[in-house]
This record gives sequence, structure tokens and C-alpha cells, in this order.
Amino acid sequence: MLRPGVELLRWFMAQQRQLPWRTPFPRDPYLVLLSEVMLQQTQVHRVTPLFRRFVENFPTLEALAKATEAEVLAAWSGLGYYRRARALHAAARAIHAAGAWPTTRETLHALPGLGPYTAAALAAFSFGGSDPPVDGNVTRVAARVLALNAPASSVRLRREAERWARQLHRHAPTPATFEALMELGARICRPKLPSCDRCPLAAICAAHASNASDRYPLPSSRRPRETHRWVALWLVRRDGRVLLHRRGEGQLLSGLWLPPIRELVDSQEPKAAAAALLNTLGLEARLTPGKPISHSITHRDITVFPFLAKCDLTQVAENSELAWVPPDDPGVATSSLTHKLSLACCPLLTELGLPVSYRSA
Ligand code: SF4
Repeated sequence: MLRPGVELLRWFMAQQRQLPWRTPFPRDPYLVLLSEVMLQQTQVHRVTPLFRRFVENFPTLEALAKATEAEVLAAWSGLGYYRRARALHAAARAIHAAGAWPTTRETLHALPGLGPYTAAALAAFSFGGSDPPVDGNVTRVAARVLALNAPASSVRLRREAERWARQLHRHAPTPATFEALMELGARICRPKLPSCDRCPLAAICAAHASNASDRYPLPSSRRPRETHRWVALWLVRRDGRVLLHRRGEGQLLSGLWLPPIRELVDSQEPKAAAAALLNTLGLEARLTPGKPISHSITHRDITVFPFLAKCDLTQVAENSELAWVPPDDPGVATSSLTHKLSLACCPLLTELGLPVSYRSA
């Protein structure tokens, strides 16, 4: 066998996916930053069209830095985990204010929201850095090749993976080596059922040699999931616009526009909570319950009880936190929860003689 780094590179050159951010090295750091932040918690097939749309909206770092938070959140719609969008925006503003990109892993790591992985990826792909970006794919491949008995998210495994990736890079000194490792983890050395028969590292893989690929890495202890119950008001005006409320600082989904929502405490009855929420808008009306929906945000599983009300809504005036909007307007920074609620409420709107304002597909 040739040196493993060279085998890996050969495989990558022949098999890599064509992705819009995979341009020749050194890459435009703005596009690297966007793609890496988007890929942190979202799969490639979902990121690809949204990456293109985001770049159309904000073609340069300067355009992103000068945008308002609402514009950035709206363009981020569909990707979820909006904290990433805010951090990306803050980083763009910091770089633009400084007048130049930082170019080392350490200085990039000092930017808002850039963890060690993203900082190393940017330094390697755009500025010739030789520190390996180590993500979950790289740690999994390293754990198996080296048969490391360490939990998936442990510091020890990350350090060992970094040391090993550095060695590979020494023998094949191009950023493509790092990208090849990530690609291998994503497509061949998958968490379940790795395709060892097609793997360019099979000849040096200790886990494969002992027919124990699925034993590595060791499982991490998981954060326990929380369950929550919310009520939501779906209020539709005669012109078909829906009342949305801007979520406040410190709330889940803060900064996004959603229907008025309240969390239920203990065994509180949903209808009573919905009536109290309606009261905060100065309204009183008979409430009609919609079908409860399930929604997950990171480690939280939320059951949302939607309620509709047929009443005079002309008195609910807009302000900085309340707006009457067509909720499928792409300019509205909202969450997929709004779409789910609209689907749950659509059938009832017709029954109540209210306008159906939202696309049902
Ligand atoms: S041989 Fe199998 S377990 Fe080892 S690195 Fe390749 S795909 Fe992963």
C-alpha cells in the first residue's frame, strides 16, 4: 500500500461530491465560513440549496455585515438552530470592522461563535493552515483506524484524532487531506454499517482487522431529553394575515416571529392557558382547539396545543413585537413550527368561516 494519506487523497479525488463551496484552494474564506457554520448541525443535502439562496441574498462578507438581524434570520430560514445565524452575523461584523480576515486558527477562534473546528477549517482551507479540523466524522474514522477505546465526544479522542490527522497531512500536505477525512467519515466510515470493502484506509484499520468497526468509538453519555407543553394562538384576520409575535431575549427561538405562545406549567389545562394568553392581547372569545403537534428543539420535545378564536381582531394593533403578516412570506424570520401550526389549523379555519392564508404544502 502507498502511504495512507496518499491512498486517501486518491480516493477523494475520484469520489468526492461536487458541492457549491468546494472550489479550488485557497478558498474564499467567506464561503468557507458560511458552509462550515451551516453544516454544523444540518446535513449536506439540506444545506446545499439553502447555501445558494443565502449567498444570493448576501454575496459578500460586507453585505452580510451590513444586513439587519431580521434580514439574516429570514435568509437563514429552513436551517434551524438560529443561534448559528446570529453568531455568523456577529463574526461577519467583527471581520468587516477589523478591515481584514484573521488568518490563523488561534485568531479565527477569537471571533464570535467560531469553535476550534471551524477556526481550523477556515485556516486550512483559506489561509494554508496545517492544524487539522476535527469534527465527528474525523474522530470516528480515527477511533476505528487506531482502535481507540475512548467515548465519541471525549477530549482524549479529539486529541488523538488531531495527532493522527496531522501525521496524514505531513505525508500528503494539502488541505484536501483534511477534507478527504471528513468525506470518508460522512460516506464510507458511517456511524452504522461502514463500507469497509470500499475504504482506502482498510489496510491500516485496526477495527476492521478485528472485525469490530461498530465497536468504535465508545458511546458518549447523552444529555437527557426534556418534555414541554405549550399553547399557541392562531389568530387570522379577515385579510388572511396571521398574528405573529417576536420572541424575546432569553426565550427559546428568540428573535423569531411565531404565533403568540405560552408554556404550560405543571398540570395546567391548555384551554385555560390559551384564554389567559388571549387576554394579554385584550381579547376574549370562545377558543377552538386544533390538533396538538410535536416539535423538537435540540434536546427538548415540545407538544404544542394550538387554539383558534373567532373574534374582532381589529383592536390588536401592531408594534415592535406584534405584527399581522402572511406567515409564509419568505421575508419573515420564523421557525418550521409556524408552518406546522398552520397545517394543524387549516382545516378548522374553513369550519369557522375564517380565511385560509397559508399554503398547505
Ligand atoms: S476500514 Fe471500515 S472502519 Fe476502518 S476506517 Fe475504513 S470504513 Fe472505517
